[in-house]
Amino acid sequence: MTLGEKLLPVLVVVYVGRKLEAAIFRLPTFPILTAAPFRLRPPRRKEPVDVEMTRINPPLYLASTTITCRYCKAAMHAVALIAPNVPETEGDVCILCDITELPDSVLSFIQSRFPTFRRQFSKSAQSEYFANTCPVCGVLSGDHYLHSEPGAPFFPTTDEEARRLTIDPVALQGSIDVQASLRMGSGDLILNNGRSRESQ
Ligand SMILES: [Zn+2]
Repeated sequence: MTLGEKLLPVLVVVYVGRKLEAAIFRLPTFPILTAAPFRLRPPRRKEPVDVEMTRINPPLYLASTTITCRYCKAAMHAVALIAPNVPETEGDVCILCDITELPDSVLSFIQSRFPTFRRQFSKSAQSEYFANTCPVCGVLSGDHYLHSEPGAPFFPTTDEEARRLTIDPVALQGSIDVQASLRMGSGDLILNNGRSRESQ
C-alpha cells in the first residue's frame, strides 16, 4: 500500500514537466509535495548510428602475414583486405581496416584460411570490428597497430617490407558492399611486391 492510498483513497498524482519528478498528494486539509520514487520516463535510447556502406568492385585481395602477439608473444596470423577498385576513391588502391560489415561469402573465404579473424570488441577503439586475434590468448591485435604507423605490417614503406605479405585473390561474383575505413597510400606497394601463394 502506498502512502497516498493509506492517507486518502482518491489520490491525484500530477506530473510536472519532463524531468521534475514530483507528485502532489491532495489531502482533505492540506497538500503535501513529495518526491515520487520513480522516473517519469525511461532513459532515452541511443540514436542508431548511420551505417555507411562502401561499394567495392572486383578484384579483391587478401594480404596475410605472421606477427607476434603483443600480449602472450605467440606467433599469430594477421590479414587485411586490399581493394584496387573502389569507385568512390577514383583509382586509389584501398586497404580496408576497422571492418564492421562484410559479405558472408568474403568472411567465409577469410575464416576458412584464418579462423582467428573474427568480430571482436576492441577496448582501445571502444567498438566491435573484424579483428585479428591470437589463437593462444584470444587478445586482438588492433587495426590501429597493424595499419597506422609507417612500417606496420599492413603499412609497408619499402619493397622489402611489402614482400613479407602473402597475397591471395578473393573470389567475387560481382560488386560487394562493406562497412570499413579505407586507407590509401601503400596498397600499390603491397600488390606489386606481395608474394602470391603459388610462388612460395
Ligand atoms: Zn596471445
